[in-house]
Amino acid sequence: MRFLIIGPPGAGKGTIAAWICEEAGIPHISTGDIFRRNISQGTKLGKIAAAYIDEGKLVPDETTNAMVREHLRSDAQQSGFLLDGFPRTLAQAEALEMFLAEEGIRLDAVILIELNDEEIVHRLSQRRVCPSCGASYHLTQKPSRDGEYCEHCGERIIHRDDDKPATIRKRLEIYHEQSGKLIDYYERKDLIRRINNDGRPDEARQAVQRLLKSIKS
Ligand code: AMP
Repeated sequence: MRFLIIGPPGAGKGTIAAWICEEAGIPHISTGDIFRRNISQGTKLGKIAAAYIDEGKLVPDETTNAMVREHLRSDAQQSGFLLDGFPRTLAQAEALEMFLAEEGIRLDAVILIELNDEEIVHRLSQRRVCPSCGASYHLTQKPSRDGEYCEHCGERIIHRDDDKPATIRKRLEIYHEQSGKLIDYYERKDLIRRINNDGRPDEARQAVQRLLKSIKS
């Protein structure tokens, strides 16, 4: 199965993406994670991306499209994928469409996660992540069993600069500016499937299961 997942930063997209990948047996390709990995490894791509990410801006399409294409090439042909964080602009959506057409494959759905801005600012200011393995924690709802250290790999967990309130607002502004056009684009292709994440986690998980079942059948 081949999916995109769209949603504001902090709406639980990472968690829901992990459930989808587990249930559907597909890899999770997150552009934000790939950029962060490159930044922590000090690669050329990481150096370019860091300048934009630190200011809460999008990395230019040219850099991002080339990176996604490289990552999708093998997964697209095999088990499928869940692409998270891409596309964020119409130009990226068009580049993706061209690439998928070249590979002779189609998207099954564009999964849209919904949550209001107020709740997002609250949730993100409490989020902590592991810079090494990418595990995500929440100070009150999901603290690490090892306190300030990642319970999976032992690395010290951090409050990402782009999870701090001023940057969150900037990211939400960018998201709202650009997601409207993207949602319309995929709405016209009848690919949008919505999951509202303002309830309990088990409700969202059930919604994911129903959605995958409806796509399979
Ligand atoms: P995320 O973890 O998905 O919120 O991504 C973190 C940051 O990486 C974003 O704020 C952007 O600066 C950059 N980024 C991730 N995906 C993209 C994309 N598709 N296009 C441009 N920049 C991106």
